[in-house]
Amino acid sequence: MLAVGFLFIVTSAQREEINRQVEQRLFDTAIVLRSHVTDLVADVLDKEGDEESVSQAKAELQALIVQLATETQMRLTITDDEGVVLAESERDPKTVLNHANRPELREASKTGKGVATRESPTVHLDMYYLALKMKSSKGRSAFVRVAVELDTINERVDTVRRSLWLLALLFGAIATALTYALVGRIINPLAQLTDRAQAIASGIDQAPVQVRSHDEVGLLAEAFNQMQSELGRRFRQLREKNEQMSTVLSSMDEGIIAIDMDERIVLANDASKTLLNFATANEVGRPLLEAVRSRPLYELVQKCLESGGPEQTEFESICQVRRDLAVRATCLPGDPANGVVMVLHNITELRRLENLRQEFVANVSHELKTPLASIKAYAETLRLGAMSDPENNLKFVDRIEEQAERLHQLILDMLQIARVESGEEAFEITDVSVNKVVDTCFNHNTDAAQRKEIQLVVEPPPSPILVYADEDGLTTILDNLIGNAIKYTPEKGRVTVRWWQEQDQMLLEVQDTGIGIAPEHHTRVFERFYRADKARSRELGGTGLGLSIVKHLCQAFGGSVKLCSKPGEGSTFQVRLPLS
Ligand code: ADP
Repeated sequence: MLAVGFLFIVTSAQREEINRQVEQRLFDTAIVLRSHVTDLVADVLDKEGDEESVSQAKAELQALIVQLATETQMRLTITDDEGVVLAESERDPKTVLNHANRPELREASKTGKGVATRESPTVHLDMYYLALKMKSSKGRSAFVRVAVELDTINERVDTVRRSLWLLALLFGAIATALTYALVGRIINPLAQLTDRAQAIASGIDQAPVQVRSHDEVGLLAEAFNQMQSELGRRFRQLREKNEQMSTVLSSMDEGIIAIDMDERIVLANDASKTLLNFATANEVGRPLLEAVRSRPLYELVQKCLESGGPEQTEFESICQVRRDLAVRATCLPGDPANGVVMVLHNITELRRLENLRQEFVANVSHELKTPLASIKAYAETLRLGAMSDPENNLKFVDRIEEQAERLHQLILDMLQIARVESGEEAFEITDVSVNKVVDTCFNHNTDAAQRKEIQLVVEPPPSPILVYADEDGLTTILDNLIGNAIKYTPEKGRVTVRWWQEQDQMLLEVQDTGIGIAPEHHTRVFERFYRADKARSRELGGTGLGLSIVKHLCQAFGGSVKLCSKPGEGSTFQVRLPLS
């Protein structure tokens, strides 16, 4: 555009210059023509009346004009002061009309020189005219007029203009190519840099910018590449740290929740979602109370934000699963605090164990109190006179012995269950012959069975079975089960012990025809100190620990125990143990 504008100005100026030069040439020619024709014109004008001289002068003038026109390649005209053409290079002057109204002649009559460009009515061509006034010796005026065809000038102007346009186009093309190359060298790397910067901003990892120049753009690209690699390194570090943190957080049993100062959730690990049963899956950015419908937690946050220090509380979370939770809330740094971090511990098991311990202590004291109170009462009775009662004193001593034995048994059972439960009991797990253990237990319990005329039946499998267990432990299991069966079976009943192999396990059943156990007690009879029939158990010297010991021992050997029973129809305890 600039080049076109420039060219336009140049060509206009050039046209003006050519016009000026043409005018100058016309002027110079007219001056020279005027000096050449002065005498002949004077003859024509001044010798009026002398027709012969005048026509001779006119003929000479016409011949001179024609000759000069041929030499100068111009149209030459001589007129008198009334516009009558005296000589004309292009026509016979007699055929040419009066020139008095020609603008260049009118101007020349006033100023001595006249210029005009117009179509010639004589030759019908566009012409550039210049006329000069001249005077004859007698003071009459005449005009010399010089003209060139405008077409010739225009042709010259057009030729020059064409050349200029061509040159301009050529230079324009070269300049555009050069500009493109030069600007491209700057713009392309900058465009690349912009692309990369946008890619980095949108988080897409990018290859470095390829700029090989050593100018400012090259230095900028180098600095950019350094910045990009440094940023990439830091992003990677951040990502790794983030991944590490989320791995740590998601593998934690403790729940972690962080909220910002507007009490909106910034972070919540999986454990916290499980512990508090989040109401929404997309918790990040939501208000705490919307995601976790827990007033105690909300109040703890308020307390923590008010005090600025750590606060803790314990509460029961009311979800499908009841849980006891302990929460510690700490303010994030900042004044006012930038938020709060809460750490949640599931203390349900802890509470359960605490309750169990309290229950156990209460049970133990209660169990110990009863035989001790009996011993104390019998001893007091003896001291207060029964000692000299020969009929009863021995009976009282027997009772004391009996209660002491009960105490002893209770303490032995308690010690054993404590050892089995704590895992301190060192078992010698090896191949144990079930036949042998059943024999031993059979012998242990024969007397008790005979006392109640209970039939003790053993139904061994066709071939002996070995289990992978501790022999003493298996003996304790069987003693307890057979002992209970005899205890809770009325006289003349029957207790059957049978065992067999099923896949890779040994199944052993102790079946009795006793009082049976109501379904509501089936799971609980394996708890410590639990008695289905309290009065009968106590009367029979039970401690309420036997089945609990059985269950723990079976579990310690990788097996289990199960009960099938109906009140009044007897009970069957089934033990499963792995084969050796
Ligand atoms: P205990 O020393 O009282 O027998 P156990 O733990 O051995 O304690 O048994 C728990 C309770 O299970 C007993 O108090 C009794 O009520 C019931 N029980 C156990 N074995 C039998 C059985 N074979 N028949 C009926 N009731 C039984």
